[in-house]
Amino acid sequence: MSSSAVPAAGADPTSKRVLLAKPRGYCAGVDRAVQTVEQALDHYGAPVYVRKQIVHNLHVVQALEERGAVFVEENAEVPEGALVVFSAHGVAPEVHEQAAARGLRTIDATCPLVTKVHQEARRFAKDDYDILLIGHEGHEEVVGTSGEAPANITLVDGPESVAGVEVRDPERVVWLSQTTLSVDETLETVGALREKFPLLQSPPSDDICYATQNRQAAVKAIAPQVELFLVVGSANSSNSVRMVEVALTAGAKASYLVENAAAIDPAWLDGVTTVGVSSGASVPEILVDGALRLLAEQGYGIVEEVAHTEERLTFALPRELRRELGATRVVSGG
Ligand code: SF4
Repeated sequence: MSSSAVPAAGADPTSKRVLLAKPRGYCAGVDRAVQTVEQALDHYGAPVYVRKQIVHNLHVVQALEERGAVFVEENAEVPEGALVVFSAHGVAPEVHEQAAARGLRTIDATCPLVTKVHQEARRFAKDDYDILLIGHEGHEEVVGTSGEAPANITLVDGPESVAGVEVRDPERVVWLSQTTLSVDETLETVGALREKFPLLQSPPSDDICYATQNRQAAVKAIAPQVELFLVVGSANSSNSVRMVEVALTAGAKASYLVENAAAIDPAWLDGVTTVGVSSGASVPEILVDGALRLLAEQGYGIVEEVAHTEERLTFALPRELRRELGATRVVSGG
């Protein structure tokens, strides 16, 4: 695989080829959340209950189900005293309270970058700010963050909803955001909010996470060069859906979100020389490999990896799991 979008010397520029975005696929928060469930299964044995999809990917959820994870929507479905893992998207404080009331043992796999937004929300609410939370209504992360300070938080779902936003004191207002939004659309929303509230404050650091930003930037670099851009990801994965939008805005003639190789319609390839491929932050590489195999069968055997950024971030497992694993090692080692 080449690491550049420039065809190798002598290569026929009219050859069918794939430009493969890097970075793509698993981010540090997803990797940690999936490992959390795997290690909990290894350590405690099945069943391990998981509230909501641990990450928004069907393949990952099914693979964990086969190993004994049981996915539920709410704590009420978990037997009293059992172990439940909270997903990477984060939960409102009341979910922790419900779990404690049912005597559940919990492991919180909330991504640390989502936790950071929760902390910002708590801090600004304590200082009695109105918090304008830019995000998609109903998304689990937004529900969790809003639950930190429901009286102070107003959801702003894109630039078109700015007109209806009201605050108590326009001199004490801050915006925060969901971690997996479109960078460009969020800037547009912030611009519209700032026109309305000129003293609007910004979050202390980016809420849209590094993984979302890097994947969108890598898509943007490739999109103008392709007739078709395929993003591997599930329909409920916010960051994956945003990558399709970014591909189209950045110049790809067509772009589709595909769950896996089987979802690729060969008719999309008619007249296409160059296909862009990437995957959302919750997508295991095995699904990208499948898509590349299918494309190779269709004549797109040349794959050039276009590297935008190297990612090295990793997160430690949740404290409660580390403590337990460490304790076990001491016991079994003694
Ligand atoms: Fe964390 Fe970003 Fe990955 Fe979400 S997409 S789990 S916020 S690193």
